[in-house]
Amino acid sequence: MSNQVNLTSSNDSEIRHNWTIKEVQALFELPFNDLMFQAQSIHRQHFNPNEVQVSTLLSIKTGACPEDCKYCSQSARYKTDIDKERLMEVDKVLEAAKKAKEMGSTRFCMGAAWRNPKARDMPYVLDMVKAVKALGLETCMTLGMLSEDQAGQLQTAGLDFYNHNLDTSPENYNNIITTRTFQDRLDTLDNVRTAGMKVCSGGIVGLGEDAVDRASLLAQLANLSPQPESVPINMLVKVEGTPLSNVEDLDDFQFIRCIAVARIMMPKSHVRLSAGRSAMNEQMQSLCFLAGANSIFYGCKLLTTDNPETNQDTALFNKLGINTETIAGDIDEENDHLALKTAVINQQNSDLFYEAVN
Ligand code: SF4
Repeated sequence: MSNQVNLTSSNDSEIRHNWTIKEVQALFELPFNDLMFQAQSIHRQHFNPNEVQVSTLLSIKTGACPEDCKYCSQSARYKTDIDKERLMEVDKVLEAAKKAKEMGSTRFCMGAAWRNPKARDMPYVLDMVKAVKALGLETCMTLGMLSEDQAGQLQTAGLDFYNHNLDTSPENYNNIITTRTFQDRLDTLDNVRTAGMKVCSGGIVGLGEDAVDRASLLAQLANLSPQPESVPINMLVKVEGTPLSNVEDLDDFQFIRCIAVARIMMPKSHVRLSAGRSAMNEQMQSLCFLAGANSIFYGCKLLTTDNPETNQDTALFNKLGINTETIAGDIDEENDHLALKTAVINQQNSDLFYEAVN
């Protein structure tokens, strides 16, 4: 194949952090079937191809955000018909988390429309993390920029993941956001890593960016070391009143290519099919799964944009033979239980066996 790209430095399981934009563009330009085949082959080396991780996202504080992200209905700078809400009470968050768990979610993500959390917000946010964690769910938050100290506090409370997207390429960044810099975003990710939490970071496509921006965004994400454990790829949801409400639609195949290229470059990360999914038909979503997407948001509203109903997701999973992924803790518990049973059986004939163990 003439446009074959060197996927890894020496072997398929080694992760690269030195992607050039040109190399990423070459991946994007592969014939569609070749790209899908490579993405699916790499996906199978690291994941069960018939499993998808399921998260639920709850908006814990909605609207009135001082930032100017041009795609966002929650910015106070744009006239959108969003219902502003103050920080939710811990009990209400806990109630929603219980429902999410009953619906099969393994991770509960809590998002607040803030530039950054204020000192007065932190005690509530930390209580939310502790309460949700106690349910046995993985916890994730997205609260804007974080200082080193705030990241440490969240980690100590039990936060597993922090979401902070790079949004778009560094070259396109100022066309989309002017109230914080690309470097601010990298600094927050650095604080999250230093505190010992897992990183959830991705971007949005369909913002009116050029193809080279999509390649540059993915190069930025893949060149983070370590790579983010979770990589949401969002399709812009156009909201009336925002500056991007009339931007031209991105071709569906370009979106699927984005998922496939992300899978190839970040072979061990969960690639999440994120905002914009409600506008995708089953066939489009299936192609995204084939391209290596293995995480979705389920149930609740995806922050403030519609998300397909849970039962539609279940129906699609049934058609595709997809199961939901259990969290590592569940597997460990099962393994521990099995190990205990084996130990009991092995010791039944021993003189030292204590009957009550059974
Ligand atoms: S994306 Fe986040 S930071 Fe930007 S305006 Fe919306 S809520 Fe605020």
